[in-house]
Amino acid sequence: MPLPRLQFAHFMTYDELTAFVEELAASAPGVVRLRSIGDSREGRAIHLLAITDESTGPAEAKPAYLVHGNIHAVELAGTHAALFTARKLAAEGRKSELLKRVGFYIVPRINPDGAEFAVTTSGSIRSRTDRSERAANTLYQEDVNGDGLILTMRLPHPNGPFVSDPKDRRLLIRRTRKSKPPFFRTLPEGMVHEWDGTDHIAVEGRSLDWNRNWSYDWRPEPEQWGAGDFPFSEPEMRALAEFIFSRPNLFGILGYHTGPNAVLRPPSTGSENDLNEGDVRIMQELAEVGAEHTGFPVIPVVKYRRDDARDINLRGHFHDFGYRHLGLFVFEFELGILMNSAGIKTKDIFAVKRDEAHEALVRRMMKWWDKQKRRDPVFAPWTPFAHPQLGRVEIGGLLHRHVANPTPADLKRIAAGTYRFTIAHASRHPRVVIEDPQAERMGEGVYRIRARVANRGEFPTHVSNRGRSLRRLQGVRVEFRPAEGVRLLSEAGHRTLGHLNGLTDGRDLEWFVAAEGDPETLCELRVLGGAGGNAAVTVSLPD
Ligand SMILES: [Zn+2]
Repeated sequence: MPLPRLQFAHFMTYDELTAFVEELAASAPGVVRLRSIGDSREGRAIHLLAITDESTGPAEAKPAYLVHGNIHAVELAGTHAALFTARKLAAEGRKSELLKRVGFYIVPRINPDGAEFAVTTSGSIRSRTDRSERAANTLYQEDVNGDGLILTMRLPHPNGPFVSDPKDRRLLIRRTRKSKPPFFRTLPEGMVHEWDGTDHIAVEGRSLDWNRNWSYDWRPEPEQWGAGDFPFSEPEMRALAEFIFSRPNLFGILGYHTGPNAVLRPPSTGSENDLNEGDVRIMQELAEVGAEHTGFPVIPVVKYRRDDARDINLRGHFHDFGYRHLGLFVFEFELGILMNSAGIKTKDIFAVKRDEAHEALVRRMMKWWDKQKRRDPVFAPWTPFAHPQLGRVEIGGLLHRHVANPTPADLKRIAAGTYRFTIAHASRHPRVVIEDPQAERMGEGVYRIRARVANRGEFPTHVSNRGRSLRRLQGVRVEFRPAEGVRLLSEAGHRTLGHLNGLTDGRDLEWFVAAEGDPETLCELRVLGGAGGNAAVTVSLPD
């Protein structure tokens, strides 16, 4: 059975995603396994692909790398990029040296409910909107004109902050002192709950941002917008956290988002000077590898902002969680937005200081779009509609799901770059091995067993300097299991080695045993290597 084709024509619905991951697993037996890390709030399974060459052991016994995407509802490109990596790895399969030694966990869509809303309606939510307690005078997004989409409503209003752009009538621009009517106000397409007929209409309910729901420096609203009730209060995030903490073999994580394209690295709060200096050097070096493969700029999260803004502080964010609570080098790639696909660089987007400059970039994007042969439906014409509450409105405008992502066609090139980065990062995995196991006869029925346990990977078994101090990243342990009829003479069988540095750090180990008769084997050595993976060897009698 051939691997399923990953199309780059449109973003995927949940059913399309499910069909793809099922086919991928079925077409790559012994390499790809489909599991679920739990169910979403609305009951959709959150797919997990575990990918490794199982002929050398399951992913759980190897150093492992996690890729996740689409934590934010409309950032659908992340699902695609994660699936690109999954499919590439599946195609490599047993030919890959890396898959013999490393396991990959891929969660292409952490937020299947939010993504389904975004992909089917193009409506705009961050991760989730709590609509359980509907507030009065509040607009809830809904497809009121029945065209299948949730677009923008514009209404003429004397206080309206927008006017139609004289240079491109499709667009709305900020009203200035010189603007002439008609003036417009805008609302998302929807219905106002218990409207009292006034102009004061709030939009949607409580909005949750799951990339503010991680545990490091979590703060409640209103200190941190979108935080949720407590760290991992959202079931999807809880499922991911439980998965992460059940896998001490994880040594690297990459998350996919869409914003102006960038390779993001810690810190997400405070200053770089708060982090270990050696760790910052390595995370920067790795991020530059990402930049090389994607063409994206490297930006610490706190600096991912307009040039004229202050540094940002994101509480409960993935980056500081990944570095400070897991001790790992973690990254998020912002895969881009439609402006990037139109050839506008991230530095030009962040250089914008005034509304006029932003409006000029949108115009440039639309001009580029007009010239495309195959056009994704990024704009819906303003169409008059008699709204049951608001009266005469026009519904149309830019489609969020396209504006907030690179084009699917562009994504193919981008995903190839992020895949190469993933391989480069993952290739530095720690790798715990048992070398030169041997037994020597010392006298009648007495034997000496020797072996070297070493880390021949590039990262230390504690991955980062930060990781050395954390309980989660476990040091190396050796279990000594004597064969039947073999008795240990040494003081201790099991050994705790602690962490091993990369490449050149090894320990020579020695045991003495006594054996009755002539047993075929003397013992089994099992090495539990934490992030470096497990290894085992059976030691036989010398010939
Ligand atoms: Zn995002």
